[in-house]
Amino acid sequence: MDLLNTLVDKGLRRETPTRGEALAVLATSDDDLLDVVAAAGKVRRHWFGRRVKLNYLVNLKSGLCPEDCSYCSQRLGSRADILKYTWLKPDQASQAAAAGLAGGAKRVCLVASGRGPTDRDVDRVSDTIKAIKEQNEGVEVCACLGLLSEGQAERLREAGADAYNHNLNTSESTYGDITTTHTYADRVDTVQKAHAAGLSACSGLIAGMGESDEDLVDVVFSLRELDPDSVPVNFLIPFEGTPLAKEWNLTPQRCLRILAMVRFVCPDVEVRIAGGREVHLRTMQPLALHLANSVFLGDYLTSEGQAGKADLEMIADAGFEVEGTDRVTLPEHRVGGGCGAHEGGTVCGSHDGGGVCGSASADTDAEAGAGAVDETVRQADGPRTDLVAVRRRGAGTDLAPNA
Ligand code: SF4
Repeated sequence: MDLLNTLVDKGLRRETPTRGEALAVLATSDDDLLDVVAAAGKVRRHWFGRRVKLNYLVNLKSGLCPEDCSYCSQRLGSRADILKYTWLKPDQASQAAAAGLAGGAKRVCLVASGRGPTDRDVDRVSDTIKAIKEQNEGVEVCACLGLLSEGQAERLREAGADAYNHNLNTSESTYGDITTTHTYADRVDTVQKAHAAGLSACSGLIAGMGESDEDLVDVVFSLRELDPDSVPVNFLIPFEGTPLAKEWNLTPQRCLRILAMVRFVCPDVEVRIAGGREVHLRTMQPLALHLANSVFLGDYLTSEGQAGKADLEMIADAGFEVEGTDRVTLPEHRVGGGCGAHEGGTVCGSHDGGGVCGSASADTDAEAGAGAVDETVRQADGPRTDLVAVRRRGAGTDLAPNA
């Protein structure tokens, strides 16, 4: 396909595809799917080889959020039967992090529900970051605490945070349909604050919330403009008890096309498969490793993932290798180059998302329409609510974490 040859060439040159090309990837047929994966896989291997970075989520504070993000099981008024607890103590968080690191993770993502941290919260998280860093040499720590106020990013950086996550989630034009208690502009502002403080910015999206192909392309192009170092791609976990509980819009094939599109638009950026991996990609997860170079190990914030051991086996069986702490994730040109990467050469990656953080993002219009029909047909398979398991182990419980 000319389209794919063009996109590979552009990806290797770090050139931005056109919106039409990105839409065309989402509109490809199932007959072309393996060709799409192979093409985006070339770009992935060019910049990241066969390495897979493992990240580990620690939910510092779960549920009870005053915000109303529709996708989030921790939102105001959520009836999802999730764990609810207030701030973990630094040693509890450090213990949870240690389990993930022992399982092969190189980054710990410290996440707390809420609109944003108070200065006292920043103190608590700073103590937690220090405790984790003291006990685990070479670990990368990413904080995900919601909207940041002036000076908070700098304080987190001083405490040793490497990265800050705040997802854009969806397009600017549909953001107000998803959340009313804060704005898209608030989110952009926090990503920019993190960037400006020398934190590696991590910002991504949630697919499957009823958005159009155009919305997906819009948010990915906006992310390219913000230039985060890592882009988590969440696939909505439609939790019972949330407004989006009936939004079962994704197929494994659709997820692969979305990941391929993100890879083509953000070729040299850490693309991470985030919440919803097991629920929506299902047995197609190994193919997705040809597109993304990063995943979460074990469980998510409020839902359970597959066993950490199964993650590791999948990576090995698919011919990939877990990235060690001795490797820098990003290509050399991004490290220390003002892309949110910082002096230490460490690079970073999640508040929101389909079960991950915070909480869980032309000329081809006719083709895009055809693709949409195809997906609709397959939704007849029915919702896979059997695959959604609320987290009952790890942080905030007496049971061992999954790592
Ligand atoms: S995504 Fe974050 S801010 Fe939004 S409801 Fe969930 S915990 Fe609260």
